[in-house]
Amino acid sequence: LTTMGSLGKVSMKPHAVFVPFPTQGHINPLLMLAKLLHYRGFHITFANTEYNHKRLLKSRGSSTTNLDDFQFETIPDGLPPSDGDASQDLAVLNDSTRKTCLGPFRELVAKLNESASEEVPPVSCIVADGVMTFTLEVAKELDIPNVLFWTFGACGFAGFKITVELMKRGIVPFKDPSFLTDGTLDTPVDCIPGPNNLQLKHIPTFIRTTDPNDLMLDIVKSELEATSNASAVIVHTFDELEHETLDAISPYLPPIYAIGPLPLLVAQIPDKTLQSLDYNLWKPDNECIEWLNSKQEGSVVYVNFGSIAVLSPNEILELAFGLADSKKNFLWIIRPDLLVGKSGLLTNEFFDETKDRGLIISWCPQENVLNHPSVGAFLTHCGWNSTIEGIAAGVPFLCFPCLSEQPMNAKFVCDDWGFGIEIGKKSGRDEIANVVKKLMDGENGKVMKKRAKEWKAKALEATTSPNGSSVVNLENVVKILLGKSN
Ligand code: UDP
Repeated sequence: LTTMGSLGKVSMKPHAVFVPFPTQGHINPLLMLAKLLHYRGFHITFANTEYNHKRLLKSRGSSTTNLDDFQFETIPDGLPPSDGDASQDLAVLNDSTRKTCLGPFRELVAKLNESASEEVPPVSCIVADGVMTFTLEVAKELDIPNVLFWTFGACGFAGFKITVELMKRGIVPFKDPSFLTDGTLDTPVDCIPGPNNLQLKHIPTFIRTTDPNDLMLDIVKSELEATSNASAVIVHTFDELEHETLDAISPYLPPIYAIGPLPLLVAQIPDKTLQSLDYNLWKPDNECIEWLNSKQEGSVVYVNFGSIAVLSPNEILELAFGLADSKKNFLWIIRPDLLVGKSGLLTNEFFDETKDRGLIISWCPQENVLNHPSVGAFLTHCGWNSTIEGIAAGVPFLCFPCLSEQPMNAKFVCDDWGFGIEIGKKSGRDEIANVVKKLMDGENGKVMKKRAKEWKAKALEATTSPNGSSVVNLENVVKILLGKSN
C-alpha cells in the first residue's frame, strides 16, 4: 500500500524509471532489463534523449510501445539540436549528460509524481546506466533505491578501475607522445588483483593520451567514484564467466550483481509483444535473414563493428580484400557512418568477386543473425553487448577491437575464455584472410567452436535453471528495487 496525495491509500505497482546512456550499446541492455522488470509487475518509464527519440520514430515509425505500463519519456542530452542519425561523439555526449541532465531529469520525475494515478504510479526506484550517476541525487532526494547498471562485463569494469589507478599513480596521462610507438603499451599492469597477464594495451583506450585535461579520463574517474553511492550495481555478465574478475572488483563497489546474458533471460518472457519490443537507432534490414537462409550451416562470417567504432579507408579496404581472399561467405554490416572520410571506397572489382558470397547492409537484427545456423564466426569489434550476445549464441570470434574497453574484452575472449582469435588493427589482407580461414577451417578453429558452445551451455545454465546465478541475482535486484532487501 502506498499513500499518494489525493488518491489516498491504494495498491500501487512499483514504478522504475530507466535512464540509459544514450547510445545503442547502452540502450539495448537497459531495455532488456526494463522488459524483465515489466514482466515482474513494474510500471516502466524509459527516459530517452530527445535526439534518440526522434531517431526511434524514424527507424520504426513509432515511438510508443503498445504496452500497458511501459512508456517512453524524454530529456534533452544538452547538445545543440541535430537532425542527423550519426553516432554522437562519446566524450562530448558523456560530458554533456553529466553536466546538463540532472535538472531535466529531476523535473521529469517531479512531473511523473505530480501526475501520478492508479495507471501511472509514483516513481519508486531508478535504474540508471553506470555513467548516468547524476540520477543518484534525485534518488537521494526522494529516498528511493537507485541501481546503477554498468553495461560492461566485469573485465571492462576492471579496465576502468585500473584506468583510475594509473591516473592516481601518475602514469596516465602519459608524459610523452612516444608511448604509442616505444613499446610502453606492452608494459605489464597489475594494479588490481584478479585479471591475469594484462598489459597497458588492454586497458581502455582512453588512457592513450598525453592531455592532462582529457575529458574521457575525467569522466571515467568521476563516474566511478560516484558509483559507491548506489544501492547496488549490476554488470551484464554471469558469475561462471567472470567470477574471478567479479571478486576482484567487488571490494570497490556497493553490492554487485552479475545478470546476463540478458537476451537469454528475455527469451523466456511469455508475452511476445513485450519480448520483441526493440529500440534500433538505425532501421534494421531483415533481407539478410533470407540471404542467410540460402547459405550452408556454419558457412558465413558475420562482420559488425557496432554503433560507435569507425574505421579508416585503409582498414576497410584491407578487411574487404581479406574477406574476399578468404573465399568464405560473409555478411558485413557497414553503418552509414562507419567509414571515416569518403564513401564509395569498395570497387566493382570487389563486388564482382564477392557477389555470390557476400552481402553488405547498413544495420541488421544482430541477435537473429548471431543465432542463425548459417553463421559460423563473428568478426566483431568486441563491444561488450556484441561479446555477450555472441557468447549467448555460442559463436566463435574473430576479434577486431577498436576503442574503449574493447581491447580488454578481446583479451579475455582470446586468452581467458579461449573462443576467439585476434586480428590486429594493422593487419593486411593476407593476414586477415589467413586468420578467417584458420577459424573457419583449421584445427584450432574446431577447438574454439567447441569452447564457444561450452560457454553458451554455461550461459543457458545461469539464465534458465531455477537456481541459475543470473536468475537468482535478478531476483535479488528486484528485491532491492522494491525496497525489500536488508
Ligand atoms: N546492433 C544491432 N545491429 C547492428 C549492429 C549492432 O542490433 O547492425 C546492436 C548489437 O546487437 C548490440 C549493440 O547494437 O546490442 C551494439 O553494442 P556493442 O556494445 O556491441 O557495441 P557499441 O555499439 O557500444 O560499440
